[in-house]
Amino acid sequence: MRRYGDNNRMGIEGKVAVVTGAGSGIGRGASIVFAREGAKVVVTDLADMAGGPETVRLIKEAGGDATFVPCDVTKESEVEAMVAKTVELYGSLDFAYNNAGVGPDGVRIPMEPIVDSSTERWLKHVDVNLTGVYLCLKYEMRQMAAQGKGAIVICSSAQAFRQIPGFAGYGATKTGLTALTKVAAVEGAPLGIRVNCVCPGPIRNTMLSDNITSVVEGMADRMVEGVPLKRWGDPQDDMGEAVLWLCSDAASFITGAILPVDGGLAI
Ligand code: NAD
Repeated sequence: MRRYGDNNRMGIEGKVAVVTGAGSGIGRGASIVFAREGAKVVVTDLADMAGGPETVRLIKEAGGDATFVPCDVTKESEVEAMVAKTVELYGSLDFAYNNAGVGPDGVRIPMEPIVDSSTERWLKHVDVNLTGVYLCLKYEMRQMAAQGKGAIVICSSAQAFRQIPGFAGYGATKTGLTALTKVAAVEGAPLGIRVNCVCPGPIRNTMLSDNITSVVEGMADRMVEGVPLKRWGDPQDDMGEAVLWLCSDAASFITGAILPVDGGLAI
């Protein structure tokens, strides 16, 4: 059922949305929300990420339209091909949520102080979090410029506002995304493209938070201790809704905004 009614005042129905890193967590939540409001969703993730096709299955089961298009956001040729495939499949690219990201979760990437850290892991953060979003912007904005309209949301983190020891690569790249958002917003404005940024606080049911809370004792409580609203965020109901709103016509005068979606953590 559509949360915002059947009159399409949000301007989402019939439009085409790309979500990167959509095989899990926040990307899956946002994909489901776009599809619920009638958008056709291109669900992208790494080719070997079984969660991608699973997100598509969930959307189709609920009556929505989605297609899995594999894409490693660090590979320029794959990003270019993913945008081309989107247009081939659905005829346009109206919204993009550049969500794919990596960070220290104690399982896939360790938390490590700078003095003991691996340069290879630092570069992985730069590749996925910063270069990946840059490459997506490049090809998404080219397509949207040709259409004369589009809206893009970038996923940063509450760590753009508060730094944490052991998270240097993550903090630096996520903070860098706020600058990239603003540059893209001023360049996109004359082309009819809005570019905004969401900064999630602790969001449950993501591999990132599930891993951290499983390996660090007491982390589940510590993660929400500093959150004034005293709860975890939800990938769909909190993150997906914020992304949808920023892409919608309801936010048509908003560009270059850096929006915390974090229960007040950034305060
Ligand atoms: P997640 O690990 O569940 O999802 C991240 C997704 O990105 C995965 O599906 C993964 O396969 C994909 N991905 C990784 N590298 C990729 C690449 N090179 N190309 C394409 N896809 C790739 O975690 P999540 O929490 O859902 O993360 C989504 C975004 O939210 C990330 O940018 C993350 O930094 C940000 N974030 C999450 C939290 C949180 O509490 N979960 C807080 C702040 C910010």
